[in-house]
Amino acid sequence: MRLGIDLGGTKTEILAIGDDGRERLRERVATPVHSYSDVVTAIAALVQTAEERLGTRGSVGVAIPGTLSARTGLVKNANSTVLNGHPLDRDLESVLSRPIRIANDANCFTLSEATDGAAAGLNVVFGIIAGTGIGGGICVGGRLLEGPHRIAGEWGHNPLPAPRDDELPAPPCYCGRRGCIETWVSGPALARDFNRRTGRSSSAADIHHKATTGDPEAKEAMEVFLDRFARAVASVINVLDPDAVVLGGGLSNLPGLAEDLARRAQAYAFMPEAPTLIRKNTFGDSSGVRGAAWLWRPEELPFALTR
Ligand SMILES: [Zn+2]
Repeated sequence: MRLGIDLGGTKTEILAIGDDGRERLRERVATPVHSYSDVVTAIAALVQTAEERLGTRGSVGVAIPGTLSARTGLVKNANSTVLNGHPLDRDLESVLSRPIRIANDANCFTLSEATDGAAAGLNVVFGIIAGTGIGGGICVGGRLLEGPHRIAGEWGHNPLPAPRDDELPAPPCYCGRRGCIETWVSGPALARDFNRRTGRSSSAADIHHKATTGDPEAKEAMEVFLDRFARAVASVINVLDPDAVVLGGGLSNLPGLAEDLARRAQAYAFMPEAPTLIRKNTFGDSSGVRGAAWLWRPEELPFALTR
């Protein structure tokens, strides 16, 4: 049995799955926001309760909204800021008495979809989480590719390729650079751009809906947005040539997005003979917690844990 934990900004979820990928238990609690030790205690309690109920021990993988620094071993870049600067894996190892694997939530999303989701059985998979921000992850041969600095897949902080005149000067990003893809391709970025063009306030889903019902201003905003998204995806295709790109996050629910992006990205990529396969995710919001569980592959389950 394997246990996956998705440590989100507001909710922390645990999922127990068997080797066949079938769900055996799922539980959610509010994420403690004031103290790091409360987070460790909450995760340990979720694991212990799950194991008591199922009558067996499992491997533990955790998805976090940040990464473990390869240099210091401490959590960095987590928007759940109480985690930053702490050795979450070592602290969980000492309370749960077993090795713990931790990965970024976008990486867990990608691993989940590459293992038994929308890109199951495919070799090179690029996962995109597009919602309030934009992130990504890479799986090759069913394994995460993280890189020595653990930033593989972080394309959201590459500059938007081939900027048009009206996309300059590039807007500032919280990371300190200008013109990052995240400042153009995310739900809030679409809403901001629509507001700047029209003076109207709408959510990304609303703008998409209005565009499909013939609102010319919404149509134009969507057209520009999808063109930017496609330029950004084409730059990934040129570097990675993935077997599939899987879309996740709130924007992945826009109807027809995957097919539209596949067509547009082909036009920007380096002379591909066919469009790159772009698919919507299979597991939705569960992909993070499933990917966390899949951080331990069957042949790697730590000694003395039951399969
Ligand atoms: Zn940035």
